[in-house]
Amino acid sequence: MDKPVRHILGLSGGKDSTALAIYMRDRVPEMEYFFCDTGAELPDTYEYLAKLEVYLGKKIVRLSADRTFDHWLKVYRGTLPSPQMRWCTKVLKIEPLEKWIGNDKAVSYVGLRADEASRKGYMSTKKNMMSVFPFIDDGLELRDIEDLLAESGLGKPSYYEWRSRSGCYFCFYQRKQEWISLSEKHPDLFKNAIHYESKLDHKETASKNPYTWSHGESLTELLNRKHEIKRYEEKKESHLLVDILEADNDDNEDFCAACHL
Ligand code: SF4
Repeated sequence: MDKPVRHILGLSGGKDSTALAIYMRDRVPEMEYFFCDTGAELPDTYEYLAKLEVYLGKKIVRLSADRTFDHWLKVYRGTLPSPQMRWCTKVLKIEPLEKWIGNDKAVSYVGLRADEASRKGYMSTKKNMMSVFPFIDDGLELRDIEDLLAESGLGKPSYYEWRSRSGCYFCFYQRKQEWISLSEKHPDLFKNAIHYESKLDHKETASKNPYTWSHGESLTELLNRKHEIKRYEEKKESHLLVDILEADNDDNEDFCAACHL
C-alpha cells in the first residue's frame, strides 16, 4: 500500500509561518510542523516556538544539518554567506528538510501572504514535494495575519521590536540598524558575528568590496557609526528622509521562504 501523503509546515520563528500554523491547525489535523535549526537562532525564537507548541498541542520537529555552520564555512573557504552566495540556506535548511522527507510525497504549506504573492522565496525543488500557499489562495494579507496572531494570544515574536525578520542572529539580510540593535540586545551574539568576520582572509577584507556581514563595512566599522545610523533611522521614521547616507539605504526586499516567513 502506498504511504499516505505527508502534510508539512515549516516554521521559521517568524510571524507569517506562525500565523499559517494557527490558520491550519484545525484544517489539517495531521499536519507535521518542523523547524530547521541552524544552531545560530536567537533565544527569542526558541521561546516563541515553545509557546506555539503549546497552542498547537503538538511537537515541532527540530531538523538540524549533520554538520555545523562552522564546518560549512571552512568548506566554503571562509566566505561568509551573502545574498549572492546563500549557501547557508541550502546546507542548513533545505538539505535537512529534504533528508527528513526522503522520497515521501508531501504537501508543503508555505506562509507567503496575498499582499506579497509576487515575491520569490528560496524553497526546495524536489519533485515529490508540492508547495501550496493557503494565504494567497484565501486572500489573507498582513492585517489578517496580525489578527490571527493577536486572537491566538501568541502575538508576534519579541524580536520584532527591534528586528524585521526571523532567522540566524548573523543573518546578512539584517539592516544596519538591526545590527546595532543586536549589539544592544544580545552583545554576546554580536561579538560572535564579529569573530566570524575577524577570520576573513586579510587580503579580502582589505579589498574594496569585502564579504563582510553587512554591505560595504565590517561590524566594528558599523558599530563605530552607531549614532549616524540611528539618526538616519529616526529621519526615516519621521518621513523626512533625505538621501544623505546612501550606503545605509540597505532595505533588502529579497528574502528566503525557508528563513523569513
Ligand atoms: S537566516 Fe539568513 S544566515 Fe540564516 S540560513 Fe537563512 S539566509 Fe542564511
